[in-house]
This record gives sequence, structure tokens and C-alpha cells, in this order.
Amino acid sequence: MIRLNALFLPLLMACTLVQAAPLPVEEAAPGVFVHHGTHKDIDTDYGGDICNIGFIVGERGVAVIDTGGSAKVGRQLREAVRRVTDKPILYVINTHIHPDHIFGNAAFKQDNPVFVGHDKLAGAMTQRKDAYLRNQVQWVGADAADSEIIPPSLAVKATHTLDIGGRVLHLTAHPVAHTNNDLTILDDKTATLWSGDLIFVERTPSIDGDLKGWLSVIDQLRGIQAARVVPGHGPVTIDWKTALDNEQRYLSTLLQDIRAAIKAGKTMEQTMETANRSEQGKWALFDIVNRRNVNTVFPALEWE
Ligand SMILES: [Zn+2]
Repeated sequence: MIRLNALFLPLLMACTLVQAAPLPVEEAAPGVFVHHGTHKDIDTDYGGDICNIGFIVGERGVAVIDTGGSAKVGRQLREAVRRVTDKPILYVINTHIHPDHIFGNAAFKQDNPVFVGHDKLAGAMTQRKDAYLRNQVQWVGADAADSEIIPPSLAVKATHTLDIGGRVLHLTAHPVAHTNNDLTILDDKTATLWSGDLIFVERTPSIDGDLKGWLSVIDQLRGIQAARVVPGHGPVTIDWKTALDNEQRYLSTLLQDIRAAIKAGKTMEQTMETANRSEQGKWALFDIVNRRNVNTVFPALEWE
């Protein structure tokens, strides 16, 4: 018996390594599957699983939308796809550059999908590649092993449609807002809008693009006919216009408060303590992310 165990142990271990446990997913609408990460900051050992990632199943094949913060999370997402369907994975779409959304791409290379992103995504990846790969070890520890940045092979400049069989995905590349490479996906069959980080629900919106640009993109998003939104972070939301109201209020109050602080001769450090206090308690990770937003926005507004 002992000899048998010794013989099979390496084999069992190899199997565990290859077979990733599938991520739990919710079917938010027919054929639309979402995995929800937890509200953690991207920091030491955050685990790579903090945003919404998932996939849409068509008659012809599957479109994956965002892949998680590590190759391991990507493999677990791939396993979740395989639990639902054995149809080919045709597309892997990234909503934007951020590491919690893109580092799982590597797990889908074996499927030879078309990688899809905003026209500006490849450039952003080139610019940030070294820093992201360096930080990845700190961010996800041993899970950084197979980390790789995979740029889009199909770049969306304005709009593009992907027919995955029985349903068409309408992709829109937006002007600078959350980042300079935000892409949204609208599934025509269920009117589900996959917004990436253009819409935050529960979690404090973080700015890595342009605050004023984001406010104008919010106005454009209001024109979309969507029955529900899969935000970048937070629950799938039916009343997404209210979610947009909340986000707009957070961002415009931040803009007002920073402008007022600059006018009153306050420093950036002082402004970090005072800006947007009325929003505290309304958002997860407020203290960390709000300070960081002031740090990003203050220098740009100083030269208005
Ligand atoms: Zn983001």
C-alpha cells in the first residue's frame, strides 16, 4: 500500500497542477457568465482575483471578456468555460490595460483566439510591460510564474462587431476616461453591456486616464440601450443609470473639491485629506483609492 502511494503521488500531483479548479460564475443573462472578484486593492499578494471577468457563449463559439490578474486565474476561468461548453474560444477581449483584467490572457494562448482590444491598448501594454511584469511577483507571488502580456491582434479604433453565432457583440472604443484604452461590449441578444472599469459599482472609481474625459464618456454611456450592466467591479446591475449617477457624483465632487483646493492655495498632500469627504463611507477602499485619485488629478488641474 505504501509502495503504491509512493508510485502514484507524483502522478496525482502533476494532475493537480494541470487541472485548475474552475472559478465560480453566475449566469447573469442567457449565455452570459460572470465571475466576481473581491474588493481588494492591487497590492502585495492581492491574489489576482478582484474584478469581473467572464464569457459569452454563442452558437459558433465563445468570447472571453477579461481574464483576471494572473495566468492561474486565467486557467481557472478557462476551466469555468469548459464546464459550460466545449465550443471553441474564438475571442479574448480585454476591456482595458489594468493588470487585474489582462494577466490571465496567457491561459488562453493554447486556444489560438483572436485577442481583441482598444486601438490604444497595445501601446499602453508596451509602455507598462516592464513595470507590470516586475510588480507581478509582488502582487501575486508564486502565481506570477507564467505571467505574460499579450497585446490585441485585433485593435478597435471606433466600433467593431463580432458575430459568435446567434448573437452579435458590439464593441466600442472610448476616448480617454478611466484609461486611454477603455472598450465596452454590448451583447445584442440579451442587451447586456459589459462596461469594464468605465462603470464601478460599490468600489471607489479609480482614475488612470482623464477625469473630465470620464465625465463626458459617462454622458455618452447613458445613451446605450442596455437591460443590465456587468461593471468592471461590483454586482451585475439592472438599475445601471443610478450606478452611473453615483459614479458621476463621485467624480464631479472630486473635480470641484480639487479645483477649490488649488484656488485656496492648498497643497496636494492637504487636498488628499480633504477632497471628496462627502463620498467617504459610500464606497469600498475609499481611503486608499481616493488619495491616489487626488495624486493623479491634482497635478493636471494645477495647469487648467
Ligand atoms: Zn481598471
